[in-house]
Amino acid sequence: AVSIRGLSKSYGKTEVLHGIDLEIARGATTCLIGPSGSGKSTLLRCIAFLEEATGGTIHVNGRPLGFEERPDGKRVRLGPQRIREVRSGIGMVFQQFNLWPHMTALGNVTEALVTVRRLSRKNAEERGMAQLRHVGLEARAHHYPSELSGGQQQRVAIARALALEPKILLFDEPTASLDPELTGEVLNVMRKLGEEGMTMVVVTHEIGFAATVGQRIAFLDHGRILLNGTPGEVFSDPRHPRLTQFLETYL
Ligand code: ATP
Ligand code: MG
Repeated sequence: AVSIRGLSKSYGKTEVLHGIDLEIARGATTCLIGPSGSGKSTLLRCIAFLEEATGGTIHVNGRPLGFEERPDGKRVRLGPQRIREVRSGIGMVFQQFNLWPHMTALGNVTEALVTVRRLSRKNAEERGMAQLRHVGLEARAHHYPSELSGGQQQRVAIARALALEPKILLFDEPTASLDPELTGEVLNVMRKLGEEGMTMVVVTHEIGFAATVGQRIAFLDHGRILLNGTPGEVFSDPRHPRLTQFLETYL
């Protein structure tokens, strides 16, 4: 569903992604692992078009995202309408849940449906309630974020992303801000979405989750994908020395 070719990203003179090639299969969960500073968030933000890559291309279901390569090899930026169309199919969930504190759970889930997608309040609330039900939070619809646990807040953030009906859902360390006893409920919701066939890319340090829920694992190190395959292939012996070093730090 997502095809990444020769993607590079520089901040000023410093290049942090060096020609990433990655295929993200439709309906599968791809887990992106790697040491701190390896470029996981930058790659995810480029796929969400929150950052503009400085080289290479991304295609979503065959359509270019942000930039396209012309037959003469020239890389050109697309117009805002074509960018918006492709980008609207991509949802993102962050480590910090980024909920509006002055809105209820339902308010957070319906806000963009009303203001961006122009749904009527009634339709937005129906769709919002359905998504809150999906993440097991129907009973908390009228609670404010401060009245919810971290795990519940993150599930609201997932419901908010789902309400926009993304084709691809990106997660950047969705459980990293949670107490250990709350990570399970969020991982379970993500596991369920995977089983339902949602296409997901998950940056995570939860190696157990990656190994059991990820159908593909990509290991990023210093802005390059060193390993990419099924969990069996990537976690098999003999391991790449950099992966062994990484696993020793995080397991
Ligand atoms: P972590 O596991 O700590 O979240 P990461 O793999 O997500 O790390 P990134 O946040 O993508 O790593 O950062 C990759 C590199 O890019 C790092 O060297 C970082 O310092 C640099 N970087 C990230 N964002 C910026 C920015 N806005 N300006 C300059 N450099 C940046
Ligand atoms: Mg990061």
